[in-house]
Amino acid sequence: MFYVREELCIGCGLCIRMCPEGAFDLSSGKVQIDDSKCTDCGLCIDFCPRNAIITGVFVLDLDRLRKDMKNIKRKVDLLSKRLTILHQRRKTDCFGLEPRPLCALRKML
Ligand code: SF4
Ligand code: SF4
Repeated sequence: MFYVREELCIGCGLCIRMCPEGAFDLSSGKVQIDDSKCTDCGLCIDFCPRNAIITGVFVLDLDRLRKDMKNIKRKVDLLSKRLTILHQRRKTDCFGLEPRPLCALRKML
């Protein structure tokens, strides 16, 4: 998957002329690549004078990685809080659910 970085593109149109598949689209006023036509040949990357075209996979992976890391951190924080609470309860009344002997036995495990 190829991707045009708008902030770098100067609209020279070289990529549009070079693409053998006619995969570039200018209908929105910006240079965009139509994924359904692009064959990932990489020709446009070589000709862009601004290095504005990159493989989208790498960008998407980084974005996804950041999101995944945030989610993992959130889950670890949540789990850590729950474990702390459980640990405190177990220390004090063994959740208040079990008879005393069973509770004592559990504490020994
Ligand atoms: S990778 Fe090839 S087919 Fe895809 S937009 Fe670039 S030049 Fe066109
Ligand atoms: S060649 Fe590069 S700078 Fe020129 S229009 Fe295409 S993406 Fe933009």
